[in-house]
Amino acid sequence: MTNGRCATCYGTGELVTEQGPTTCPDCFGDGNPLGRGAKMEWRLRELERAHRGSGQDAEGDVLWLVHELRRCREALLWIVARCQDADEADPLAKDVKFRAVEALGLYDVKVP
Ligand SMILES: [Zn+2]
Repeated sequence: MTNGRCATCYGTGELVTEQGPTTCPDCFGDGNPLGRGAKMEWRLRELERAHRGSGQDAEGDVLWLVHELRRCREALLWIVARCQDADEADPLAKDVKFRAVEALGLYDVKVP
């Protein structure tokens, strides 16, 4: 990260490749660094777009993996929500919530 801008494209939103300028794959042309959760969803959409209807051998496998990943992330979100309802003194809920938040990349978790 450079002054809050995407470090890959230096905030321009574009990368110049041998094929010409392309949209930056890390910020999707925005120029600002995205949270990990948002990045994940954009990458999943890009994978789906690239594979759906491609007729390639891997099409079904990739779409299945994207579906399974979304399903697991939804389950993790549900776990985070349930842990937020738990007693704040409950160490198990606190630990489970920390792990789920970290896996989802909801916010930058500072490890002490
Ligand atoms: Zn970028």
